[in-house]
Amino acid sequence: IAEGCQRQCTFCVIPSIRGPLRSLPPEDILKRAEFLVSKGYREIIIVAQDTTSYGNDLGKGYGLKDLLKDMAGIDGQFWIKLLYLYPGSVDEALLELIAENKKICPYLDIPFQHTEKRLLRLMGRTGDREAYLRIVSLAKQIIKDLHLRTTFIVGFPTETEEEFQGLVSFVRDVRFDHLGGFKYSDEEGTKAYNLKPKVPEDVINKRYELLMKTQAEISTEKLRNYINKILTVLVDTVEEDIATARHPGQAPEIDGMVLIKDPEGLKVGDFVEVLVDDSTTYDLIGRLV
Ligand code: SF4
Repeated sequence: IAEGCQRQCTFCVIPSIRGPLRSLPPEDILKRAEFLVSKGYREIIIVAQDTTSYGNDLGKGYGLKDLLKDMAGIDGQFWIKLLYLYPGSVDEALLELIAENKKICPYLDIPFQHTEKRLLRLMGRTGDREAYLRIVSLAKQIIKDLHLRTTFIVGFPTETEEEFQGLVSFVRDVRFDHLGGFKYSDEEGTKAYNLKPKVPEDVINKRYELLMKTQAEISTEKLRNYINKILTVLVDTVEEDIATARHPGQAPEIDGMVLIKDPEGLKVGDFVEVLVDDSTTYDLIGRLV
């Protein structure tokens, strides 16, 4: 829905490569969405480098919430999913809009990147652990069956062991459904490139492994709770013995999936109900009901 970014995260090359924020006109986006839905597409992913800034450059007072309302008004059976929400721009009105609208999935992808204030300021980002906990708890209160995704960078220059442990304890407290970890790596032309001291590579690797192990344990436990539940899923692929699908809390390619055994008669793009009877670290397994 937009290209470029008006923010200045010190580790990121996107503003210098893609330039400042340029939002697509809402009429074009809505026309395209209508066309896709009329052709049988069942899921619209709303994404930009910073989705929450959509419209700020258009000078019309028309932003992401207006776009979502208009898109959800399109006739047809389809899901809308939101990716890349900047933490400081997720407000109560956006959460309520998601909660009230059945076409918008109860799914939030908020890349927090870190939780400790000193590092977040060095990263050129707003917020801190307390502010982020407030967003998460408000979102959990307002949106029923919320699924939360985030990303974190480990080993940002100057990150101490204590700050890293702060991040891990935040992950344990929040219990994200999906979490992407990134090992910091120097990108020439960014402000972070000149920040010192750098965290040694072996320490970055250890921190990354611990973060991902923590998330794997949380994900395994959370997915076990789905066993014996019935979920509505959207079918992505169908083969002879197995089909892959996703429930409203799973985005394509980045999150886990629902594997359907004995998928006879299923077609790509079907919405079906599945009884979950098993789970792995990141995926659910079930059968049609
Ligand atoms: S990390 Fe995201 S919000 Fe920050 S500058 Fe890059 S694209 Fe923009």
